[in-house]
Amino acid sequence: MRQNTLDELRDQLDDLDLQLIDLVNQREILLQKNKDLRPERADKVLERMNLHSKGALSKETLIGLFKLLDQIGPAGKPAKLPELLVSRKNKPENTVVTVAGKEIGGGQPQLVAGPCAVESAEQVDAAAGAVKARGLHFLRGGAFKPRTSPYDFQGLGEEGLRLLKQAGNRHGLAVISEIVDPRDLEMAAGYLDVIQIGARNMQNFELLKEAGRTKKPILLKRGLAATIDEFIHAAEYIMVHGNDQIILCERGIRTYEKATRNTLDITAVPLLKQETHLPVMVDVTHSTGRKDLLVPAAKAALAIGADGVMAEVHPNPKQALSDASQQMNFTEFEHFVNELEKSGLYKHNKVMV
Ligand code: PEP
Ligand code: MN
Repeated sequence: MRQNTLDELRDQLDDLDLQLIDLVNQREILLQKNKDLRPERADKVLERMNLHSKGALSKETLIGLFKLLDQIGPAGKPAKLPELLVSRKNKPENTVVTVAGKEIGGGQPQLVAGPCAVESAEQVDAAAGAVKARGLHFLRGGAFKPRTSPYDFQGLGEEGLRLLKQAGNRHGLAVISEIVDPRDLEMAAGYLDVIQIGARNMQNFELLKEAGRTKKPILLKRGLAATIDEFIHAAEYIMVHGNDQIILCERGIRTYEKATRNTLDITAVPLLKQETHLPVMVDVTHSTGRKDLLVPAAKAALAIGADGVMAEVHPNPKQALSDASQQMNFTEFEHFVNELEKSGLYKHNKVMV
């Protein structure tokens, strides 16, 4: 490139930089006029990015830039960090996620139950029947199973989602299943009412970003060794990319203790509810890994303020292709729901069968 052309480009850039400095200063002066303006910027910036950004920079970069701008106070001093979108400081009222007309986080705790994995049409249909008979509204069932060993059953994939949806439709239940690959989210949205992001993928940032771009509610599980702060920031990834329908799920963390599969961090529930405005559930199956602890763990979860409980139930747990020892059979499931009802912590809708 000829020297004078380069110089011209440099001049143009210098000129734009000066304009930017002026604009940024004008913006800061306005913000300083009223301290209440600053915290409300995040939502507005996000809204505008979604509507107006057609430029060379990605939306994420632009949002990052604006976040940075809002952190710089007078004379370049860092001001208070802007609150996260998921933070209760940003939005004091609870987020209620409504799925097929049923509320999660609306004050009435919900139970989510179903097999660890969808194995066949008959198996998932039988589980759905048992779940419906006990008055639940939500059926779970894995189709993409993140297994420790590549030689273990990996799930039926899209066919599993189809069978789950079919069982949900037949029994009038909303369906939840885990998706592990960002490329599958669009396909999965055609089958599912809630998309689960599992513990192993809590920090799969590309999956979180893509989940933010879907319209489906997301059930986000806490990572195997994730701190509360990391968990909250994972939810922020989804929200900053456009999806505010998020349910957090505590599912136990890895500790030195071997008596349970994981260690249920029960105080995570009130902590997450204080720190964020999102509904919080507890998965008692994967946190305890023990059928004898499901009832007390579920009672503890509800007593401490959880908006729901997830548990696994299978028509024939001994034959299950995954998590055979920790899934309830139908009798155990019946007992589980009865005990929660007796405690007064959970009320189910009676269904005539
Ligand atoms: C599941 O719910 O099927 C599951 C695999 O749970 P987690 O991601 O919590 O281990
Ligand atoms: Mn399982």
